Amino acid sequence: MSSYDPQDTASEQEETVALKGHFYGVYLLASQSLDPRYRGKCYVGFTVNPKRRIRQHNLGYDFGGARKTSSRGPWLMIMIVHGFPNNTVALQFEWAWQQPSLSTRLKMFPELKRKLPRETFFDYNFRILGYMLGVSPWNRLPLSVRWLEADYERPFNMPFPNHMEIVSGKVSISASQRMRSYDAVAPPLVAWASECHLCMQQIVHPERSRLGCTNPMCRLTCHMMCLANYLLGDEPGHYIPVGGECPLCENRLSWAALLQRKRLLMGVPEERQDHDEDRIDDVGVHCNIEEAPEFCD
Ligand SMILES: [Zn+2]
Ligand SMILES: [Zn+2]
Repeated sequence: MSSYDPQDTASEQEETVALKGHFYGVYLLASQSLDPRYRGKCYVGFTVNPKRRIRQHNLGYDFGGARKTSSRGPWLMIMIVHGFPNNTVALQFEWAWQQPSLSTRLKMFPELKRKLPRETFFDYNFRILGYMLGVSPWNRLPLSVRWLEADYERPFNMPFPNHMEIVSGKVSISASQRMRSYDAVAPPLVAWASECHLCMQQIVHPERSRLGCTNPMCRLTCHMMCLANYLLGDEPGHYIPVGGECPLCENRLSWAALLQRKRLLMGVPEERQDHDEDRIDDVGVHCNIEEAPEFCD
């Protein structure tokens, strides 16, 4: 039985887990497409509003869905992990779940590198999740693993941390939270984070390798390579991304525009570059030069 029928979902019981604008979820979608190329494929994403998000995925790219899921559905949101303290932590969780072979916390498990021959995409993603919940830093978080589709429910093969919970049923987000979703995107941070929002590693040479988002409200901070890998996702054979969605604010990003912005920063007058790197960082801290260079100087 599929709960894809919208009437069906409307009558279902929904649990309001709105914690006054602090819902950060990482979800797993599975394609119900009749096209054998897409059927069963999975997609991991981050959202502050699961109901709106699944609608966007199913409406397609032109309505805010991700390029990777556009026209490859319909998609079912099978499960969502929530209880993250903020969007950055949720985003790091999303990134590692998508890229277990690149994540510093997961790459010591060679068995997670790829899907086993007879494993479904769902089973593979579920297996990765089982490992993730057991390793630092995620094993310390008060997470809830929520099943949204009863047909898929199954026990974890890995020990499940005692302080986490497994629950079932849809979540609803209160209207007030929806209003506040932009707060979630732009936390009251003045300074750039020194850690990459995706891989959690320090950004050692920010002037060279740090990228932000083209949305001036968004505080995304990450390594250029990490964002490139994020945008490339699992599309084989491509090494340079065209664009995609900002992992944090879900804004459309163009890779060319990101690099152009980066070049603007690198191209600041030489006398400024000759001063120490801190100078650039100082400027960046006060007016976010990488995100909105037009407001600087
Ligand atoms: Zn990184
Ligand atoms: Zn953004």
